[in-house]
Parts: sequence; structure tokens; C-alpha cells
Amino acid sequence: MLASSPADPSIYPPIYPPADPLQPPENSAVSGVQIPLLGQSLAELTAWVQQQGQPAYRGKQLHQWLYQQGARSLTEISVFPKAWRTELADYPIGRSSLHYRSAASDGTVKFLLRLSDGQIVETVGIPSFKAGAGVDFSQLDRLTVCVSSQVGCPMACDFCATGKGGFQRNLAAHEIVDQVLTVQEDFGLRVSNIVFMGMGEPLLNVDHLLTAVRSLNQDVGIGQRQMTISTVGIPGRIRRLAEHRLQTTLAVSLHASNQALREQLIPTARQYPLEALLAECRDYVQVTGRRVTFEYILLAGLNDCPTHALELAAHLRGFQSHVNLIPYNPIQEVDYKRPDEQRIQAFVQALKQQNIAVSVRRSRGLAADAACGQLRASRSSSR
Ligand code: SAH
Repeated sequence: MLASSPADPSIYPPIYPPADPLQPPENSAVSGVQIPLLGQSLAELTAWVQQQGQPAYRGKQLHQWLYQQGARSLTEISVFPKAWRTELADYPIGRSSLHYRSAASDGTVKFLLRLSDGQIVETVGIPSFKAGAGVDFSQLDRLTVCVSSQVGCPMACDFCATGKGGFQRNLAAHEIVDQVLTVQEDFGLRVSNIVFMGMGEPLLNVDHLLTAVRSLNQDVGIGQRQMTISTVGIPGRIRRLAEHRLQTTLAVSLHASNQALREQLIPTARQYPLEALLAECRDYVQVTGRRVTFEYILLAGLNDCPTHALELAAHLRGFQSHVNLIPYNPIQEVDYKRPDEQRIQAFVQALKQQNIAVSVRRSRGLAADAACGQLRASRSSSR
């Protein structure tokens, strides 16, 4: 069964953080008076319907239609009085429209979604099936959505297609929640897992990220433990995330076993020494009690030697963590190479011998340009 375990609501009060002076200016798409309804809680929706002069129970109806029935316009909500529906026909719910859809033979589907200001964002639905089942939806194990947190990304990691395309803007919370509902509706199946591994750097968009996590958890019904937030690391932000005591998994894109190599791959690493990043991760484990996942892209001849594995292991000894190796998925702009299987396995063994927990992420959706690092909204010009 698809796991869904909304966590204890008592942990929520601190989820609405004070305005962060380091955040980019508020997203222009949502700065008008009409705040999109998606992403709002039952209490917020109830307050909104009451402001509109309607009885409180309409809040519950609205919540149900937004999150369960997939309403795209208030006019669809047949339980609402007709006159009110007509009055609110143009009120923004916050749903995107489908711009492009491409399916790979492994069942992975990539969506390009058009937002209210015409920007395009990518999201990927990744089904996984019970062992030995092949692509058989009656044997579904999980349905994971890889969501974007920004349009584009300012981090400019050298191996990442999104990073090559520059940064447009942060996504609002409703634009994150919409991605999950879109995948759920397209597959006709409940989403079981969410990974914040699409376009963008989630920790540059913390407020909207946290609001989206709350909504996905409480309104859509996906357990926090089924969500993974992936970051390349922004000084101070992992510590800040820890303060919210979420049950989500933190994944940190480490990608290198020493500072010099990391700077070569990740320009922003110059402002964030490896030691400082690891210290923040250690604090995170201590505060939350949750182990951290370290993502490590494998680039042939660059960071995939057994000596790199030993160097990595030395950093992680005694650290409650897990290494997830990501063999490089090719992008056009650079000519890094993915190591062959033998080399991948040698790296795995070298880590195992050092008692480091390790797994290899198998590429999904390569044929649809939907694998890690390949998201760039490449169809956006065909609008
Ligand atoms: N900004 C966040 C989330 C983005 S991408 C982060 O950096 O973690 C999610 C993962 O895909 C990251 O680990 C990222 O480094 C990795 N990735 C990016 N480009 C890739 C590529 N070409 N091949 C394999 N993994 C890649």
C-alpha cells in the first residue's frame, strides 16, 4: 500500500517562519491581493470563505474540492451557490496548465507546466514497481514526484542542465503543491513520495518550501517521512531547517571528497568550506535525530577513484549518514563521463569496506530527458 502518515499536527506552529531578510523579493506572481487558494490550510480556507460572507462549513468543502477533487476553478465546485461561483469565476486557485508531457518506457513521465506568469517549470512522476514486476501499474510500489522549487537555479553547478540555464524566480507554495497534484491526477494514483530534486535550490526558497511541505503533508496527506529535501548547501540554512524539527529526510549534494574538487564542480562552494557544511550537517543530525543522506555524483576520472572513496569515508566516519551515489546523467553543455558499472561497483565496495552505508541511484527517465540534472524546461521556447 502507498504509505501516508501525516505527522502530529502539534509540530506545526514553528513551520511559519518569520520573513527571512536573505530571501529574494516576493514572487510577483502572487503579490496581488488575490492570494491563490492552493497551499492554504483548512483554517485559512475557512477564514477566507467567511471573509467572502459564506458560512464556515464552505471552507471544508473548498478544501475537499481543491485537494481531493482537483478543482481548477471555483466555478466547478457544484456544492457552492451558483451566484457566488459566478462572482468568483476568475479567482485564482493556483493550478498550472500542461505545456508538454513526455513519457519514458520505464513509466517515468516528465511534465512541463505553465505558470500564471507564463514561466515554465518541470516536474517528474517516477513510478517504481515491486521486484521483478516490470512496468506494471497493478504492481506499483511507490509513486515519487521530483518537484522543482524554483524556475531555473542560481547555483550554476557545472554538471547540471538547470544550472546552465540561469535563474528566473522562486516558486510560490501553491506552485509546488500543484506539481504533486498534477502528477497524482495524470497517473490516477496517489503520490507516495516527494523529492525536492527538480529545478532549483530549495534552501533559497525556505518560506515557500515550508508552506508547501505543510500543505503536502496536512492537505494532500503525504507523510513527512516520505519527503526528501535536497540541497547543495547554503551557509546557515541547514541549521535553520533543523529548527523546524521536520520529519523529512535531508539530502546534501556533496559530490566531492575535498574542498578543491568541490569548488571545481560547484562554484558556490567557494563561499562554503566543506568543513563548515559538514559541521552544519552534524548539528542537523543532533537536533533532529534524523540521518543525513549525502548525494555524490560519479564523474569518470574526476571524483570516482577508490582514493576519493577513502577520502569521503574519512569525512563521514561516525556520522549518522548514508551515501547515495548518482552516476552522471549526460547533459549537452559539458563533456563529463559516466563511469562504467565496474568502476561504480569498485567505489561502492571501497565505501562499504570503510563501513559507510551506500546505495546507487539508478537513472530513471533518461529517454525523456527527465533524469537528475537534465531538467531545463527545454520545450519552453515552443510556447
Ligand atoms: N539544488 C538541489 C536539488 C537539485 S538536483 C541540490 O543541489 O541538491 C538533485 C540532485 O541531482 C543533486 O544531487 C544534483 O547535484 C544532481 N544532479 C545534477 N545534475 C546531475 C547530472 N547531470 N547527473 C546526475 N545527477 C545530477
